[in-house]
Amino acid sequence: MTGPTPATSTTTRICPNCDGFASAAITLGGRDRHGHLRTITAHCPACNGLGVSRTRRAREGARV
Ligand SMILES: [Zn+2]
Repeated sequence: MTGPTPATSTTTRICPNCDGFASAAITLGGRDRHGHLRTITAHCPACNGLGVSRTRRAREGARV
C-alpha cells in the first residue's frame, strides 16, 4: 500500500533533569487563613515545566 506515512517523527524525550516530573508542589509549611497548605509550584528550569527536553535530532546523538 502506498500512502502518506503517519507522523512518527515526534521524538520527545523525557527531560533528564527532572525525569519527567517537570513541576512539583513544595509545601512551605503552615497554612493560610483558609486552612489550606501553603504550596508553591516549582518548574524544572531545564525544560520549563514541560517534562520533555527539546532535542532537534535525537538520532544524531545516538550512535549504535
Ligand atoms: Zn525538566
